[in-house]
Amino acid sequence: MPTEYTNYVGGQWTESERGDTFDVRNPADTDEVIGTYQASTEADVEDAIETAVAAQGDWAGTPGPERGRILRDTGEALAVRKDEATETLVREEGKTRSEAAGEVQRAIDIFRYYAEKSRDLGGTSKASSAPASELYTKREPLGTVGLITPWNYPIAIPAWKLAPALAAGNTVVIKPASQAPSMTRIIFECLDKAGLPSGVANLVTGSGSEVGAPLAAHDEIDGVSFTGSTSVGTAVAQSAADDLKRVQCEMGGKNPTVVMPSADIDSAVDIVGVGAFGTTGQSCTACSRAIVHEDVYDEFVEAITDYAESLEIGPGLNDPDMGPHVSRGELDSTLEYVDIARDDGATLQTGGNECTGDEYDGGFFVEPTVVTEVESEMRIAQEEVFGPVLAVVKVSDFEEAVAVANDVDYGLSASIVTQDLTEANRFVDAVEAGVAKVNEKTTGLELHVPFGGYKDSSTNTYREQGDAGLDFFTTTKTVYMNY
Ligand code: NAP
Repeated sequence: MPTEYTNYVGGQWTESERGDTFDVRNPADTDEVIGTYQASTEADVEDAIETAVAAQGDWAGTPGPERGRILRDTGEALAVRKDEATETLVREEGKTRSEAAGEVQRAIDIFRYYAEKSRDLGGTSKASSAPASELYTKREPLGTVGLITPWNYPIAIPAWKLAPALAAGNTVVIKPASQAPSMTRIIFECLDKAGLPSGVANLVTGSGSEVGAPLAAHDEIDGVSFTGSTSVGTAVAQSAADDLKRVQCEMGGKNPTVVMPSADIDSAVDIVGVGAFGTTGQSCTACSRAIVHEDVYDEFVEAITDYAESLEIGPGLNDPDMGPHVSRGELDSTLEYVDIARDDGATLQTGGNECTGDEYDGGFFVEPTVVTEVESEMRIAQEEVFGPVLAVVKVSDFEEAVAVANDVDYGLSASIVTQDLTEANRFVDAVEAGVAKVNEKTTGLELHVPFGGYKDSSTNTYREQGDAGLDFFTTTKTVYMNY
């Protein structure tokens, strides 16, 4: 019997009022149920928000170092459980063991980082125009915030929203993705062990429509931080903005790597290959377009094809190069994009099939795929695929490379491979993306610098991570103090 897990509201593990549940299955072996979770309702969301609102004043009044102590102990509790959490992540979301271990470590580090930040929320002091007067700003928590997270980084993203929200003195209701709620549940077990006061952070599982939508729209919620698809994020932003609450949505990407003639092609292939096929292409920052100068196009295509064909695919627990898609729906969507690319006139260079055979039959495995002769206006070069599919576009000079890189609605991460310093700097200046990298893969982020997109990749309101993470979760009060 799979374990049935409950919501966490007011410091108690509680069942949903309706009593319905849903199963979460292993995408590498769908016979395995990872856990059974509450299919919660709007009433459960109401309950959690009411609890969080009631706890907010005391939490905001708790000294920053004590809030930090709880975050630090949460990180340490997670560190003790790292191997178990890693294995659960692999079984639930499908990442390889190495990828999952890196993500769990990232979550531990995020709690440690914001533990220290909680004593340093900032504020400025300015010279007043009047005598005997102080003029300064102080940072205050927003209040009670709603967090909505996707399945593809099921522990890092909840951590990078929860930790700064709590560090700044907010109380929280979080709804994790239904495909991968276990990692948020593990974080809550660690928060509980660390002694988080009841009501400060609340976990409600369930569908986007029954839990996510009412959470985003609720008038007692002061801020909404969402990560997920551009279509859902746009609806969330619109409903949150209805009563002028602060909102931040980080969404999809169509991330390019430009390969110039001065690049070392072996390095370029590693940079593009890891960016495109790592995490099965299921990263918002995954490289889905290689924009390659004509002088090195043939050499690059041959090498990236060999790279894709050399990858070992299998269940993440065996730590292969690439694990499965998270679901049948995601796998079908990837295969559909391969057909669309072919119909639009691109060439399928390698891959493009579901993997078959004993090891693969119970799961959602797909071949790493390279599509060449792609034109920038084709759908395969414009739309987020969210699978291990690389579209290769040939360009004749640097200006065309930048124009193609920018010729999409998204603007999350972008990179260039070049040995030419001027070209590298001109790329950083010109590329329309929230993250610009030189000689590095589009994926992979440091936790203490801002992260977020341009254009349709973001609501373009606030960034996440680092100090920017605290900016979203705090508001500024300006104080005029005469004495
Ligand atoms: P999604 O379908 O948009 O779902 C994201 C979250 O929103 C889930 O918790 C989902 O709940 C919930 N949701 C669904 N409908 C909702 C509604 N009407 N109102 C409120 N919440 C609702 O995205 P996903 O498939 O989980 O994640 C993949 C997407 O996330 C990709 O587009 C990827 O690029 C993007 N992403 C962006 C970043 C970034 O930082 N820019 C990082 C990671 C991922 P259910 O799970 O219950 O449906």
